[in-house]
Order: sequence, then C-alpha cells, then structure tokens
Amino acid sequence: MKTQTLLSRASPLGSSLNIVKQTFPAHRGKPVQRVSFVSGLHGDELEGLYLCHRLIQALRHIQETQPEAFKGEVHIYPAANPPALNHGTRLWPFYGSDMNRMMGPHSGSSIPVQMSQKIFEDLKESSDLVVDIHASNLHLKELPQIRIIEEFSEELLPLALQTHTDIIWIHPMAGVFESTLGYNLNKLNIPTLVIETGTCLRIEPDFVDRLFHGMMHLLHHQGVLASLPSDIPSVPAPQVIYPRGVGQASAKHSGLFVSRVALGQRMGEDEIIGQVLDPVKGVVLEEVTAPGNGLLFTLREQPAIHSGALLARVALDREPKP
Ligand SMILES: [Zn+2]
Repeated sequence: MKTQTLLSRASPLGSSLNIVKQTFPAHRGKPVQRVSFVSGLHGDELEGLYLCHRLIQALRHIQETQPEAFKGEVHIYPAANPPALNHGTRLWPFYGSDMNRMMGPHSGSSIPVQMSQKIFEDLKESSDLVVDIHASNLHLKELPQIRIIEEFSEELLPLALQTHTDIIWIHPMAGVFESTLGYNLNKLNIPTLVIETGTCLRIEPDFVDRLFHGMMHLLHHQGVLASLPSDIPSVPAPQVIYPRGVGQASAKHSGLFVSRVALGQRMGEDEIIGQVLDPVKGVVLEEVTAPGNGLLFTLREQPAIHSGALLARVALDREPKP
C-alpha cells in the first residue's frame, strides 16, 4: 500500500490538515481498472470511514498474502474533510462550506474550495470508477442504499447491482446535485456510485459489514481482484426502486414519534409503524401506518417532530397504478 498526502495546509494553530490517499497498485502491468473510494466529505458522516478501514485492512491482507490477485488498482480517500471530521460537523468549520457542493467547475480560492477541487481533479485523473460514501442525517436512519440520478442509470445500474446493498433508488435530477462529486464525475463519464447508509455521528456495524462485502464483490466483478477471500459471503441482489415505488409516511401532527418497528422489516399495507404522541396531554394523536407492502428502508430516528415530517419510507413490492 502506498500512502500519499494529496494536499496539506496548516490549521490556524499550526497543525496540519492533510488529505490522505491510500493506493493498492496492480501486481503487474497496466491495471485492468482503477476504482476509488471516497468518504468523509461531510465530516459528521462516519459510516464511510469505517467502511474504508475495512477495505484497507482486507486489501492490505490480500496484498501481503496473494499479491497476484491485484489485477487492477484501488485508491481510497478515507477522510476527505479533515477539519470537519475533527469537529464532528457536516460542514467545513469557520467557513461553513459544504465540500460536496464545490465539485466540478467552481470559483473561489478558500481552503475548502482548494481541497474540494484537489480531490475532484485527483479522482478525475486516477479513476475509472468511483464510490462516494455518505451517511444520513440525525433525523432519518437509512438501510444501505445506492442513489442514482435517472440520466446516469443505464451506466450505473449494472454496477450498483454488484454491490449487494438493500436498495438501489433511481430518482430524478434536482438542482442540489449540480455541484456534487457524484454528478460532476458522472457528467465526465467516470461512473460514480453514491452510497447512503445509517445516520450521521453513528456507526451501524451490520450495515458496514454488508457494504464491505458488496464493495469486495464490486472489485471482483470489475476484475480488479482476481479472486475473493473465502470469508466474503454472497448476498441477495438489491431491490431497484423508482420514484413511484417509494411509499412515504409523514406526520399529520407535531408531537413525539415513537416506533416499535425496525429498519429493514417487511411491512404490510396499513401495518402500524408507530404513534405520534402529545406527551404533555398524554394522548395519542395519530397511528402511523405503512403506505403499502414492502421493505422499510428509511425510519425517523429523531422523535421530536413537526407536522409534515417524514417518518418512514417503504420500497413498495408493486408500484401503484397511475
Ligand atoms: Zn454526505
């Protein structure tokens, strides 16, 4: 494994802010493919850091014991936003900048812009395929999933199917994606898969286990690894959903949301997901029911809610008729 510091800048107190890139080169000759993993662009999303740790550990072991298995090249950028990771915040401290909104063509020369652009350019130069790993916010917990903007689905879906996440969600473009890493690399024809999992500031080891197995399968499928370690299980293919296949349950009242179901559970139509309570008056305001038969893949984690808040999403077994 080769460790490289992509960019180093002094923090106000003099310590260094470094973006580190770990590289596993092909054993011999030209790599069949170059795959990159990025995590921590948002500093409060830690699931990806743990996933990168698992990948580095496993790949290092393969390199030590079976180096000829490396037919391709792997780059891992485990902590893309060091100051925000140190603060446990989504945004770059002091500037309040979102590194995942400074990718692609961008003006400005602040340190967050420099670091974002450096990562973007480096990924562009050294990758044929990129996986950008994110976690949810503190309000909603998500099953491991890959989200794909419609216009890139033809290219990305076959790749995403190899990762064995629970869900692949194909959704329309929105303005908010324009300056993201995923959108800009995909626009340059570098296929980029965006993972969303768990919640921020937490680690769900079971979810990361599944993602780790999925990423190893992806490396194998792409020919980067000639063989898979025997302890990587095969897992079922993900469920692919389109906007009409996502059933949402939202709160009709403000209150306290208490749920007794578990993420990943199969729900029947109208089955109870939880209750919205008025804790002051001691009354139940609302029974929240599943919007259809399917897999519960998003669940409200932060219980204090306002009316209209999203409480759950179900990947429907069957899309409703138009
Ligand atoms: Zn994120």
